[in-house]
Amino acid sequence: MKITAVRAVPMSDPIPVERQHRTDLGTKVKSDNVMVFVETDEGLTGIGASLGNPAVVTAAINTELGPEIIGEDPMFSERIYEKMYNGSRWAPAIETGISQPDPSRRRGIIMEAIAGIDIAVWDVKSQALGIPMYQAIGAVRDSIRGYASGGWAPGEEAEAELGGYAAKGFSAVKMRVVGHDGFKVDNTVTRVAAARRGIGPDVELMVDAHGSLDVASAIKVANAIEEYDISWFEEPVSPDDHAGHARVRNSTSIPIATGEREFTRFDFQSLLDHESIDVAQPDVARAGGITEIRRIAALASARGVKVAPHAWGSGVLFAASIHLAMALPNTHILEVSQGYMPMMNELFNEEYDIREGRVYPPTKPGIGFTLRDDAMERFKYVEGPEYVF
Ligand SMILES: [Mg+2]
Repeated sequence: MKITAVRAVPMSDPIPVERQHRTDLGTKVKSDNVMVFVETDEGLTGIGASLGNPAVVTAAINTELGPEIIGEDPMFSERIYEKMYNGSRWAPAIETGISQPDPSRRRGIIMEAIAGIDIAVWDVKSQALGIPMYQAIGAVRDSIRGYASGGWAPGEEAEAELGGYAAKGFSAVKMRVVGHDGFKVDNTVTRVAAARRGIGPDVELMVDAHGSLDVASAIKVANAIEEYDISWFEEPVSPDDHAGHARVRNSTSIPIATGEREFTRFDFQSLLDHESIDVAQPDVARAGGITEIRRIAALASARGVKVAPHAWGSGVLFAASIHLAMALPNTHILEVSQGYMPMMNELFNEEYDIREGRVYPPTKPGIGFTLRDDAMERFKYVEGPEYVF
């Protein structure tokens, strides 16, 4: 089997004004994504998706990365990944066993483009094998606990909002804290206390500061909310401050989670070397696709760190994350977005199988979901920023 074409198409999911929510990034007015198609001479087409600036990702795939892997066999998925990551030196890199990465591909938008192609390659590969993607990766389980991820209500409303997630059957829920309310420990304690009342004592509660605090403030918040039995404190400080995460971690009994904005196993190795985390959260469209997240998970498992995949913005990325969650032994829970997101929830002909807070994988070969006929038209790309501050 040979790859005959690689195509990238930018997409957007505008959010109606009444459904827009405010975060520390601003008011979210749309979600962008790039859909990736990998076609083969055997008539199989794989789908992937990428984050990053849509115009840049689309150009990188259509003019550079895609043409480089025409003629490759999708069964050689590690080789295709190494070819994209190492660029012009891919052959000596494979021959000598030494990474010799292309300077612009190590991190950032081009890595996001590589990740999108990698997901599509895994889709084709598992379709050709006639098995679901998670079985091609190597299945370890056939269902996983999901956590309801949302929690943007500004005050006491957190009780009803988070309680509503628990009422859907989720045994774990996550709320945003601090950033969008301005920094006030009291307000955070009020909201976390309300959330805990809403979900009762037996549902796990996680909080996410989206990297909006300095270390001292993050420690203050952690100490103030510790009594509400928090299962993890996510991105307490800037994702670039790995040592800062470690300082927060050393000052609280709350486990620390981060990773949604990290690239490749090398970033996660730094987090592990700094003893920054209890839970690693790679995003399949950013960290390097299925291929690189397997490596990240292996590194993390050697340090006793769990992997909870970050999943947001697109049905393709949620689907790929479901498959990863079924195949990574040190994964214990999967993010299930509660945001307004038709491009995640109305992209496919098939529904996701989520029952009583557990997520089940699709049974068809490959990624296991098919695009609705109107998907590309409905989620046509719209220029402009995703957030307005
Ligand atoms: Mg987060």
